[in-house]
Amino acid sequence: MARRRLGASACVVEGSVVPGDVVVDDGRVVEVAAWPPGRRGGTACAGFLDVQVNGLAGVDFGDTDEDGYGHAASVLASTGVTGWLPTLPTSPPDRYPPALALAGAVVRTPPPGARILGVHLEGPFLSERRAGAHPVAHLRAPDIDAAAAFLAAGPVALVTLAPELDGALELVRYLVGRGVAVSLGHTDCDGLTAHAAFDAGARAVTHLWNAQRPMTGRDAAVGGAALARGDVFVGVIADLAHVGADTLRVSAAAAGDRLVVVTDAVWAAGLGEGEHRRPGASLVVGGGAARLLDGTLAGGTGTLDAAVRNLVSVGLPLERAVAAVTEAPARLLGRADIGRLEPGARADVVVLDDELEVAQVLVGGQELPTS
Ligand code: ZN
Repeated sequence: MARRRLGASACVVEGSVVPGDVVVDDGRVVEVAAWPPGRRGGTACAGFLDVQVNGLAGVDFGDTDEDGYGHAASVLASTGVTGWLPTLPTSPPDRYPPALALAGAVVRTPPPGARILGVHLEGPFLSERRAGAHPVAHLRAPDIDAAAAFLAAGPVALVTLAPELDGALELVRYLVGRGVAVSLGHTDCDGLTAHAAFDAGARAVTHLWNAQRPMTGRDAAVGGAALARGDVFVGVIADLAHVGADTLRVSAAAAGDRLVVVTDAVWAAGLGEGEHRRPGASLVVGGGAARLLDGTLAGGTGTLDAAVRNLVSVGLPLERAVAAVTEAPARLLGRADIGRLEPGARADVVVLDDELEVAQVLVGGQELPTS
């Protein structure tokens, strides 16, 4: 691939919006804030990273094939996502080995589009009391042998678990010792238990304020404990449906550069409003989220570029909104090689137009269609 300028008039570099273009060559960024600014306009930033995607566009990562992953990879890229973690919710035990093996095969032979950075296992070691849409019948007590089998079956990068369950802290230490990031979620734990898990190596909270014990004046619970610490990432579904505008504003202010915005998208995302069916599953999309037929929130239907616009709409500067979908998720995953727009980085680049819509997407220097 030849050396080329993207034509952007500004870029987000090291947490600031600076004038200038981006130059890429042979799949790499070779220059940022290049002079003069490009004439196409727009603001270039690193490609977006979504660490919680259960599915989208009719694809459910718990039950799909290579074609499904290929479709998801191109739809995600069209929304500015260049790297993501397919997320497997609590499932029957026999579902895990094939789903994890498939994700591993896709990592080895990636389709065009957003790249898989590993798998996020959301469950099965979760609280019955805060299960949300997870099937209670398939929740399990923390079990190192089961976790070892998951790790052997596929590229697990992140595990969400409930720290109050018996054996959870040992499991946190086991996973962290094998390079897997741990996030606390679907939990009824109090603040002290959350701190114990963070001290044991857990480094994030999953979808803050959703499916967890709420913070009160006397108990910070998992959300307050995570916000109060300087060393814990804070996952937020910034769709203004799972978290309201004021709560998002307050949470973002408290989280600072530890804010990690996710879509938590489910298979019905992108299919439009109304009831959608798959074998064994029905979801109702409306009001900016997906719900089970009984009204239980079941995940997101938004996109990460829309989440960036939502963050800006509640008052975050663009560079902070961008950091929440680039640098912060990369740091959560311990990936120093992605999430930053800088010379030498892989050319995973997004250009946003003046309305913050995705105007251009490059994955490894390859330009892909936008939505
Ligand atoms: Zn969840």
